[in-house]
Amino acid sequence: MIHAFHVRHRSIHILHIALHFLLPALAVQLFFKPEWKLSYLLMMSTMLVDLDHLFANPIYDAGRCSIGFHPLHTYIPIGIYVVMSFIPYTRLIGIGLVIHMALDAAACL
Ligand SMILES: [Zn+2]
Repeated sequence: MIHAFHVRHRSIHILHIALHFLLPALAVQLFFKPEWKLSYLLMMSTMLVDLDHLFANPIYDAGRCSIGFHPLHTYIPIGIYVVMSFIPYTRLIGIGLVIHMALDAAACL
């Protein structure tokens, strides 16, 4: 039982990390195709928000919910990311961050 739980938990965790790469790739393919390389690079740079984990102890905990815990994963920054996704100049970063937060939130369920 315990073993089965761990295996299931680990595969979900790998899926979660894979989605952090795949969903932005999908969004770029769908909406930003002509400049997909730069777009994907910009979206990947949003992964840097996870640097706020460095302030946490322990730095990494697969079982912890990031949303509402890490400074850049709280509700006010998330509101800013949503606004950014509507401003053309910051749109890619904003969308990348919103995807990131959605995935992190899904991991809390
Ligand atoms: Zn995160």
